[in-house]
Amino acid sequence: MQALADPTGKVLRSTRNKYIVMYGDSSLVCTVRGKLAGAPNAPILSVKVGDDVLVERVSEDEGVITEILPRRSRLSRAVEGKAYREHIIATNIDQLLIIMSTSQPEFKSGLLDRYIVIAEKNRLHSVVCINKVDLKNEQEFFPYQEWYSGLGYPVFFTSAKSGYGLDELRSTLKDKVSALVGHSGVGKSALIKRLEPGLDLKIAEISNKTRKGRHTTTFSQLFPLGFGGYVIDTPGVRELGLWDIYRHQLKEFFVEFRAFEPHCQFNDCMHLREPGCAVKTAVEDGRIFGERYQNYQNIHSDLRAAHYELIKRR
Ligand code: GDP
Ligand code: ZN
Repeated sequence: MQALADPTGKVLRSTRNKYIVMYGDSSLVCTVRGKLAGAPNAPILSVKVGDDVLVERVSEDEGVITEILPRRSRLSRAVEGKAYREHIIATNIDQLLIIMSTSQPEFKSGLLDRYIVIAEKNRLHSVVCINKVDLKNEQEFFPYQEWYSGLGYPVFFTSAKSGYGLDELRSTLKDKVSALVGHSGVGKSALIKRLEPGLDLKIAEISNKTRKGRHTTTFSQLFPLGFGGYVIDTPGVRELGLWDIYRHQLKEFFVEFRAFEPHCQFNDCMHLREPGCAVKTAVEDGRIFGERYQNYQNIHSDLRAAHYELIKRR
């Protein structure tokens, strides 16, 4: 078979020892040749969903992966066992697209902040889409738009029902790899279906469940978009492992604390009940969004203390 001018492909899915790779306009079922090293002297890598790979085509619909190209980013979670192990959900993700709804289910900034913490932990850019603006006036959400975009998390509004905001959604997704997150029922499938009628995330969800029953690994899949780019439907907050974060680390993931932190009385201030806390003063002055700070307190109390982990692991 003749090789394409560009021999790189993108891994859409993995099933046992085979990989579905997007290669030019076709998808190939690929195996892996020998042991793959990411770079000279690099540890041996295993192929992950999202990887850009070098492929040799061996037939119309089959190929061999010969190399994994360097990864730009990854979305991972810790797998609890004897020791924590990293499980890579997908690689080369450009952004986390957090989908919320105005109602049904009700908008909760606490959930939004949980996703943002996960994004920060994975060093991924977050974009926020508030769907179902046909049910509630978007004006009600303008304060959120202002605060969150001020922090570097753009917010836009859509309605999968009326079609409102779909152009913005399309331009957000175009030519990027986006991991979709959001509570069930917010309209993830409906939005993607409006943009790409042939694509049904729900079908993937079902195969996800049946697979989950048999395997312990979380199944993820990359969907190519006709207008350019890919989306990956990812598991929820719990599965994504907000719970891998220790309490004392949480403050690192609230980016707006950074400017105030150096002025706290204590070096190791957690910005909770300590005296002389500059973060709390900034909340009182309205320089930090009060709801974000409340969410920080709530998430903090949900998380495990590191010493508890140490006791449990003995
Ligand atoms: P998912 O679980 O996030 O994939 O959510 P779905 O796409 O399955 O949508 C859940 C429900 O919300 C379905 O009944 C949709 O028809 C409905 N829905 C989705 N988007 C909108 C919207 O923009 N407006 C309204 N009113 N309903 C929507
Ligand atoms: Zn403080």
